[in-house]
Amino acid sequence: MKIENPTPIKWQFARRAEQLQSSVIREILKITMRPDIISFAGGLPSPETFPVEHMKAAFDTVLSRQGKVALQYGPSDGYAPLREWIADSLSIPGVTITPDQVLMVSGSQQALDLLGKVLIEDHSKVLVETPSYLGALQAFSVYHPEFVSIPTDDFGLLPEEVAKIADGARLLYALPNFQNPTGRTMSVERRLALVETCARLGLPLIEDDPYGALSYRGEPLPKMLTMNPSGVIYLGSFSKVLTPGIRLGYVVGPVPLIRKLEQAKQAADLHTSQLTQMVVYEAIKDGFLAQHIPSIRTLYANQCQVMLDALTEFFPAGVTWNKPEGGMFIWVTLPEHIDGMQLLEEAIAQNVAFVPGAPFYANEPQKNTLRLSFVTVPPEKIREGVSKLAKLIAAKM
Ligand code: PMP
Repeated sequence: MKIENPTPIKWQFARRAEQLQSSVIREILKITMRPDIISFAGGLPSPETFPVEHMKAAFDTVLSRQGKVALQYGPSDGYAPLREWIADSLSIPGVTITPDQVLMVSGSQQALDLLGKVLIEDHSKVLVETPSYLGALQAFSVYHPEFVSIPTDDFGLLPEEVAKIADGARLLYALPNFQNPTGRTMSVERRLALVETCARLGLPLIEDDPYGALSYRGEPLPKMLTMNPSGVIYLGSFSKVLTPGIRLGYVVGPVPLIRKLEQAKQAADLHTSQLTQMVVYEAIKDGFLAQHIPSIRTLYANQCQVMLDALTEFFPAGVTWNKPEGGMFIWVTLPEHIDGMQLLEEAIAQNVAFVPGAPFYANEPQKNTLRLSFVTVPPEKIREGVSKLAKLIAAKM
């Protein structure tokens, strides 16, 4: 029944697809999957933190008690009890978030795509941090924005710069907590100044916050969402506090936007897996995260300290890095003449990998930067990897 000699198709891709490229990180990850490589490249959470038995029990409970509902199609905005749980968890005294402000998505990455789809037109101005999350730049790029980079320092973006470049902008995309890629945290004062500026300009502010719960010391800083729920769009995710394989995230924002995103979500994939949402709700409804998250924080804080100590011990003078207060990344700045991409080639030959910083810049890349993730590498391997990198860098000084 198979047709013989079909005419070979000359694929003509849509203009928006021409824009698509494989993420540099995913390409590097393919190389670094080799077991002999010490990889600081992944943005993957540590599998040690995955609560396998707890999830297994939750799957079992949902399937035995509500199997027929869990295996059916579900509503596009998501599983109501989980949306309520999220709304409650984000509400604080004086600021109530309601379930109709919550849309469940298949990972917060999907939220970035949907936001691009409903807010960005060709040449729309989109303000991003310098540098910013590569996955967001990729997701937005499909809709042909004009990225405008907001100046930053070691404490994140500079709110006072925003008004100077915001004329005609469609949105501002910010990562206030333990930013990917730099690990930086925005102070409360800066958050407030940014929210005030955006509110004054009528500029939608996207707060992408997958790492917010992973602070090493003290409670997380206030969310920008709670400073202006009518102008901030908050992206949350279960990837870093539970597991990324379940692909579950959420968008919280003003109702008219959420309804528009819901329509885009419907067109994309009808709804997020009902089974997944019910299982996650079952897994977290009795306070599991409050006991689980501290163990992730402790593990990551210790791994981070091992890497910071190794950097201090081995890296030559002239190289600088930040000290993250949470999350999964350290950002390294090399002397200006050293190119991170070139260094990566040499590092891979020595069985060490990291992500060069350049792809995280929407406009002019600062090529002498690297992102190091410390969460999936055991302490003795962190020291070995940093020492090998240090030798390669020292040879270029
Ligand atoms: N935003 C940021 C800043 C991220 O680092 C990631 C994951 N690496 C995502 C969004 C996407 O996360 P997910 O789709 O797993 O929720």
